[in-house]
Amino acid sequence: MSADRDTGVALEVRQLSVRYGDVAALSEVSVSVAPGEVLALLGPSGSGKSTLLAAVAGFLPPSAGEVWLRGERVASPGSVVPPERRDLGVVFQSYALWPHLSAVDTVAYPARRRRVGRAQARREALSILDRLHVGHLADRRPAELSGGEQQRVGLARALASQASLYLFDEPTAHLDTHVRGVFLEELLTRQLATGAGGLYATHDAEEALGLADRVALLDAGRVVQVGTPGQVYAEPVNRWAARLTGPMSAVTAKVLDATADGCTIDLAGNAVTVRCPGRSAPAAGTTEFLVRPGWARLGGDLTGRVRSVWFRGPHSDHLVETPVGDVLIREPGPPHESVGTAVAWSLERVWELGDEGSPVAQPSILAGPE
Ligand code: ADP
Repeated sequence: MSADRDTGVALEVRQLSVRYGDVAALSEVSVSVAPGEVLALLGPSGSGKSTLLAAVAGFLPPSAGEVWLRGERVASPGSVVPPERRDLGVVFQSYALWPHLSAVDTVAYPARRRRVGRAQARREALSILDRLHVGHLADRRPAELSGGEQQRVGLARALASQASLYLFDEPTAHLDTHVRGVFLEELLTRQLATGAGGLYATHDAEEALGLADRVALLDAGRVVQVGTPGQVYAEPVNRWAARLTGPMSAVTAKVLDATADGCTIDLAGNAVTVRCPGRSAPAAGTTEFLVRPGWARLGGDLTGRVRSVWFRGPHSDHLVETPVGDVLIREPGPPHESVGTAVAWSLERVWELGDEGSPVAQPSILAGPE
């Protein structure tokens, strides 16, 4: 371990590269987690999320770069502190429970290690199991539990561990919506109470944006963007990031005028004034703009035709074919218009998409959270 202590940071990953033989799984990744903060790692399958967690946990050595925990260097190419000396709460996809321990003893174990008395450790364990709806299975061993029940016991053990940094690798992948909500709520309450940091890997944008303080977007082993959920959703750095972080459509328009208050853009012959954060001057040619489903409305001066409609429960999505591209419009309640109908619509806000060389060539209107 090194000196240069900086206890203001729970985790700092500096220019980390990890290879599996010839495969560069992570390339020069830098991220940090403050005490009490949850950083979500959001990326598609194969983007390097699990590799980053494994490197932070100490299961994989860096080929370059460093990992620091609470101001101590725990990994560099020449030296690696083993996992058991890193004070981490780890919930990976395989939740490896001890076969000989009952659920309650498993969850009480971290408290017992902290020398909490047996009765109190058991009480705390039972209350966590109860909240995850497996309290009635407290005396069963892993062999007597279903996969989903074992996962909840694994989550309960992690919640009981009181580590200073939690690592989660898609922990809610097999949970039903209700238990998932309870778990996430419990996790955040505990984190706030203890000041622990969290690094949370998921491919689910809705989950990442809903639970994290900040989100790091990972693509092919590289960090593409780090920002608050609001930033990565409303101001993605490129089309790929826009597609990863939620449902989107894109329109092509020329910027006629732009000030701090808004832009006037030419949408197929209609001059429309919209909010356009980030742009403050007119542009010479046409520009591609991101439109999130809530940034356009049915009704207004623009014309289009409904191509598809999806009833989503609390709201409905209308895909409207327009002269400037297909626009996804979200309205509260059941569908307002049926397929094939000519509709009027309006645009309230846009975000300029940069980086034409981004990995995704076409807009994905249906990808991301609903
Ligand atoms: P994610 O967790 O985002 O799905 P991973 O970290 O598992 O991504 O994988 C990152 C990259 O490393 C992928 O290209 C994957 O194929 C590769 N990879 C993962 N594990 C191994 C391994 N044991 N050997 C070789 N390549 C691997």
